[in-house]
Amino acid sequence: IGFCEMEPLVEIMAEGKPRVMYKNITADKILEAIDDYRGGAAKKKWILGQMRDPRSLMDDDLPNPVDKVEHFEGIPFLEDVPFYKGQVKIALRNCGYIDPDAIDAYIARKGYFALVEAIQGRKPKEIIEAVKQSGLRGRGGGGFPAGIKWATCAKHHGDRYIICNADEGDPGAYMDRSILEGDPHSVLEGMLIAAYAIGSSQGYIYVRNEYPLAVKRLITAIKQAEDYGLLGDNIADSDFSFHIKISTGAGAFVCGESTALMASLEGNVGRPRAKYVHTVEKGFRNSPTNLNNVETYANVPAILLKGADWYAGMGTEHSKGTKVFSLVGKVVNTGLVEVPMGISLNDIVFNIGGGVPKKKAFKAVQTGGPSGGCIPERFMKLPVDYQKLAEVGSIMGSGGMIVMDQDTCMVDVARYFLDFLKEESCGQCNPCREGIKQMLDILTDICQGNGKQGDIELLEELGAMVQKFSLCGLGTSAPNPVLTTILYFRDEYEKHIQDKK
Ligand code: SF4
Repeated sequence: IGFCEMEPLVEIMAEGKPRVMYKNITADKILEAIDDYRGGAAKKKWILGQMRDPRSLMDDDLPNPVDKVEHFEGIPFLEDVPFYKGQVKIALRNCGYIDPDAIDAYIARKGYFALVEAIQGRKPKEIIEAVKQSGLRGRGGGGFPAGIKWATCAKHHGDRYIICNADEGDPGAYMDRSILEGDPHSVLEGMLIAAYAIGSSQGYIYVRNEYPLAVKRLITAIKQAEDYGLLGDNIADSDFSFHIKISTGAGAFVCGESTALMASLEGNVGRPRAKYVHTVEKGFRNSPTNLNNVETYANVPAILLKGADWYAGMGTEHSKGTKVFSLVGKVVNTGLVEVPMGISLNDIVFNIGGGVPKKKAFKAVQTGGPSGGCIPERFMKLPVDYQKLAEVGSIMGSGGMIVMDQDTCMVDVARYFLDFLKEESCGQCNPCREGIKQMLDILTDICQGNGKQGDIELLEELGAMVQKFSLCGLGTSAPNPVLTTILYFRDEYEKHIQDKK
């Protein structure tokens, strides 16, 4: 359910009684917690909140069963706990609420309803139009409108493929992992709907091998969907057939880039290629390929069930719906949060995240993973959307959000991310391979007290060159942490150089 700071979380439930979530439960506390629950959760010790199960986002057109379920007095519902209060869960709608290994639990919350309704009553073009109207943009980092991508892929002839990018490699990011582990059927259903809309019969999920539980849950979910006639040949007694295979990656960050991922899936070295010809025309096996990430697909069933207008009603003009972030670093409530687009960074870090621990001062928040920018306090009222983050030199990325406090050295932060990207660069093109290395050498010198006058300007010059001439997104975005920390925290660089050994 996302509240990592409160782990180990233990949920206690009994027939006809509310589900109560106990926080920070260790082995020595568990028996007392069970006794407390049996006694009506009277002590309220270690209680995080009670869950409004079985109501879900998808069920609000049905009579609300929550009214018929007994609830404990005086215990907050989870959605009233500050960490959850500003959240709107669409992609994470089932995570923590259902048994991810049980397809029946998913179906009980209207799972696969959108797929079956689509196959039995809606034309593929209508589905694409609904996704376009919803304003859903790819949640993997690029933010390209999903409906336009689907429409373009559907226009090209050949064996079309659907790929789910589950190669989540950003340090500190676990959005996709949580969806796959908590609600794998939502991703399968999203892929199935995309396949029906685009006209594809084969899909692949490219998932990190470092996510063994996610892989296990996917294998179980695929088998269950096949047994229920929701995946495979003649789905829901129609002419539509779709199969999904899982492929595990070997831990290369660059394989999260679409063309590198497809190369790896083909059994080649996972290196990006220039995209003069887009993958929707010639992608996997040189065929039209639609690639979206886990979160994008998980949103699709909800959009179809509740309508494009409902989804487009949330967010800002150019960024609709919600976005999942992993909120980590120097913040009280670390965890996975899903918030409407347009919410301010301030709301995420202070209202949901609870602010900076130990009464220290907030310094910056880094969004967008290792290639994102560091945003200082003066922009904390900024609404979170693709454009606004780009305007201050950062990116939405796939959803990493790292909070930094007064003790964080921003030069060291920039060096840390650049070191990661230097290791992960595929080395294919000079600007990225050599440029990142040169920048890292300069940063290391500065951090070790060997910086020189002119180093900051050289970093800016090199950064601009790497951004402009690198082949793929890893290179073009790699200088972001350096350039934004120079822009907003130049005094820290200057101080390092002045204080040189
Ligand atoms: Fe490889 Fe970097 Fe060039 Fe991308 S920009 S192709 S990661 S060397």
